[in-house]
Amino acid sequence: MSHNGDLRGGIDLGGTKIEAIIVDAENQVLGQSREPTPTDGGPSDVAKQMAEAIKGAAKAAGVETSNLDGIGVGSPGDVDDSAGTVGNARNLPDWLEPFELAAALSERLGTKVHLGNDVQVATRAEFQLGAGKPYDSVLGVFWGTGVGGGIILNGEPWRGRGAAGEIGHTVVKLGGARCPCGRRGCLEAYAGRGAMEARARREVDKGAKTDLFKLMKSRGRSRLTSSIWGQALQQDDALATELIDRAVEALGAGIASAVNLLDIEAVIIGGGLGVRFGQPMAERISTQMHPHLFNDSRPPALRVAGLGDLGGALGAALLVS
Ligand SMILES: [Zn+2]
Repeated sequence: MSHNGDLRGGIDLGGTKIEAIIVDAENQVLGQSREPTPTDGGPSDVAKQMAEAIKGAAKAAGVETSNLDGIGVGSPGDVDDSAGTVGNARNLPDWLEPFELAAALSERLGTKVHLGNDVQVATRAEFQLGAGKPYDSVLGVFWGTGVGGGIILNGEPWRGRGAAGEIGHTVVKLGGARCPCGRRGCLEAYAGRGAMEARARREVDKGAKTDLFKLMKSRGRSRLTSSIWGQALQQDDALATELIDRAVEALGAGIASAVNLLDIEAVIIGGGLGVRFGQPMAERISTQMHPHLFNDSRPPALRVAGLGDLGGALGAALLVS
């Protein structure tokens, strides 16, 4: 308890779960807690659940939240740290208008709250504490339901005007597949788990055979999770193999284009699918990048994210300086 003044909180706000941790000055995790993300209600219900999650983590660490140096939050949507607001969080219930998340949490928890973009903070965590440690400039690619990205240049996060890193919406095919964002030909339209599931459902409607949805039902899930995709690939399911091949090809083109523009030293592949498939898949992405690399004699390193499920929360805690 004597080190209470050095402790920080981190909350990773995801579409399905809220991950909360307490860390010490060396970023060692002293307590953690997880809560489901509310699927109905609105932003204030989500804020309440986030407060419960961090209180649970604080209890596990034997500290009061009011004794923390501060709490960082990695959030989806449009994040404005100076205003303390989050808006346009489409995966969260009824959360389009900017909501004063920092104030809502601060009031409940009795300490200062800092906000950051979820993917940007996860990239920073990998850069400072994980797979990106050996490098000065990295691109983080988070391959999950969508495809998110974060950029660190010469040791500093590059946020542009706040929205930099949207590698999922780089165009890999003009006039191509419809993306969940509404545009055509984006990388995410080929590689996002959401888009791949929608495609698999359409193929099944047209008569394609696959075990993907049988696996889903046998596990009592309503979505094709990363582990279901992993198992289908292991079983050589033809449709799963075809869709993942297509995703890897698109990732190769999209990531290579970003590398041509930024010439970063390393690409870190994270996200549910990225971590599930691991280094062998990173090698496959690297192979698919190669024909698109302008400077193909010096490809960047490809590394799988090293912090696992807690990367987002660790990055959020880094927002508290
Ligand atoms: Zn898009």
